Amino acid sequence: MVYLTIFAAFFNKSHYNKVNKKYEAQINEFMESIKVRNGHQPEFLQAVKEVAETVIPYVEENPKYKKAKILERMVEPERVIMFRVPWLDDKGEIQINRGFRIEMNSAIGPYKGGLRFHPSVNQSILKFLAFEQVFKNSLTTLPMGGGKGGSDFDPKGKSDNEVMKFCQSFMTELSRHIGPNTDVPAGDIGVGGREIGYMFGQYKRIQNEFTGILTGKGIQYGGSLIRPEATGYGVVYFAENMLHTRGLSVFKHSVVISGSGNVAQFAAEKVLELGGKVLTMSDSKGFVHASKGITREQLDFIMELKNVRRGRISEFAEAYDDVEYHAGKAPWAINSDIVLPCATQNELGEADAQLIVKNKVIAVSEGANMPCTPGAMNVFLKNKILYSPGKASNAGGVAVSGLEMSQNSMRYNWTREEVDEKLKGIMKSIHEDCVTHGKENGNGYVDYVKGSNIAGFIKVADAMMAQGVV
Ligand code: GLU
Repeated sequence: MVYLTIFAAFFNKSHYNKVNKKYEAQINEFMESIKVRNGHQPEFLQAVKEVAETVIPYVEENPKYKKAKILERMVEPERVIMFRVPWLDDKGEIQINRGFRIEMNSAIGPYKGGLRFHPSVNQSILKFLAFEQVFKNSLTTLPMGGGKGGSDFDPKGKSDNEVMKFCQSFMTELSRHIGPNTDVPAGDIGVGGREIGYMFGQYKRIQNEFTGILTGKGIQYGGSLIRPEATGYGVVYFAENMLHTRGLSVFKHSVVISGSGNVAQFAAEKVLELGGKVLTMSDSKGFVHASKGITREQLDFIMELKNVRRGRISEFAEAYDDVEYHAGKAPWAINSDIVLPCATQNELGEADAQLIVKNKVIAVSEGANMPCTPGAMNVFLKNKILYSPGKASNAGGVAVSGLEMSQNSMRYNWTREEVDEKLKGIMKSIHEDCVTHGKENGNGYVDYVKGSNIAGFIKVADAMMAQGVV
């Protein structure tokens, strides 16, 4: 009996065991070869493993992809660019940062993906993000390949002048490698409207060309309405689609949100608009808990605090008596119906996921890229929680970036309502694709991880097959 229990516990460890057992050897062999080349890149290996576990069984059953070595080609970036970024700080001292652009896959369109400015940035993190971006962009239905870039530069604590100097130096080199039909970067952590503006100005000055080279631009110079809101709104639209499969909606439900940056802010805005209750938000130093729900006025305070004053979320708790601050903690222990992790990769671990399941959470929808660890993801899938990976549920941001590119090409602007309608339509279509490829036989549970990986893979794989060995 004891042995049986131990065996059962071991067997159940991975949700994918049922599917995987048959193809375990192929998955292990594939991952071994990836480790040999990328052993020192843990985040990249994590992202590849998650895809391999669901896509390899599909490839084995569709041998044309196996013969063409599509997955083997997809894990190798088409190009990795790394460069020096020297700049002068306000004291006149020389500072040196590292710049990167990973051009991962251009089978279905120009490389597309954000730039991240954060001290943690390295090749592993950017390769994981670029790899995820290939699948995410494919899911949007728009013609965009995958890429990602950034720098270990930390905009926190820097003056506007220093940020401008850095952005100009960064773009001076990056401008040689990008173009409206080649590679179109955008924002990510640490890169918002201010940074995009400085980089756009420098590109235009160097190339003497006004072109849609970046997305997330200001509305006065080619930006799209709804682009700032798109990732956060999209996460909530996706969660709505998931909830509808169980006859539910965000309305009247309580929501735990992590993060307080662009994604978290607009996810919170949409939850409030739909009649839900936002209980928490956070930053890297701790989280705030408003047990009665964050009000619209309080959200405006947070937006001003984070976007203009660039302060700490603790200051929000200091300003309101009914808000508690928990230093050094993430908000996962707070009881809620819906959880939206919107901060950063690997912020929610296996023990957190167990707590979330114990609290009877209905849905977990990722706003950040890979915020749940593999252990956490398996806990959600095993317990049949509605769970969506970032590459599906946070695709709204890059989707509206794609719409910004379309508007730039047409030299025309759609209204707020038009862009929002298209965004809603795209999130619905991503959800449908996930259901098509992720619905389990028998119980009807939708595995959105499997669904998004396979749906994202097929479009890129077919394009690669058509284009030959390139
Ligand atoms: N950085 C965002 C993402 O993770 C947006 C990328 C873009 O708009 O190109 O998808």
